[in-house]
Amino acid sequence: MATKSLASCIFCKIIKGEIPSFKLIETEKVFSFLDIGPLSKGHALIIPKYHAEKLHELPDEYFTDVLPAAKKIAIALGAENYNLLQVSGRGPCLMLILSRFTRTHLTPLQNNGRIAHQEVDHVHFHVIPKPGPSDTEG
Ligand code: 5GP
Ligand code: ZN
Repeated sequence: MATKSLASCIFCKIIKGEIPSFKLIETEKVFSFLDIGPLSKGHALIIPKYHAEKLHELPDEYFTDVLPAAKKIAIALGAENYNLLQVSGRGPCLMLILSRFTRTHLTPLQNNGRIAHQEVDHVHFHVIPKPGPSDTEG
């Protein structure tokens, strides 16, 4: 399988182990690890082992492991309520996401490009458990 890596990309460095991460799942095609700035407990990232900035630049074969990895993570976390999405930004866009977290429905996002709020230029998917009532007690 053709892989592609970019020396300056933090996610490519994480795949290669040059930047430490809390690894959850690794297959031939994807790598999954805990987000360093979690929006909720268990917030995970799934990234293809191919450096593509945007979704349309990723070879099709790299998509096949994304949803199975998300499923495994959800089961491992025991998460009954969670969102699979791509979010971006810790500024205004984060506020948008957090405000959506407080609502009943969350709009899935898939961000590609700066104007569309993509922050790390390596296609990635977030698995974000939605906290239940017991997570906010105390
Ligand atoms: P974006 O905002 O581009 O959709 O998401 C990038 C995500 O990568 C952010 O949630 C951010 O916390 C996470 N992130 C950035 N750098 C690192 C890192 O070095 N390690 C880990 N584990 N996560 C990172
Ligand atoms: Zn990369």
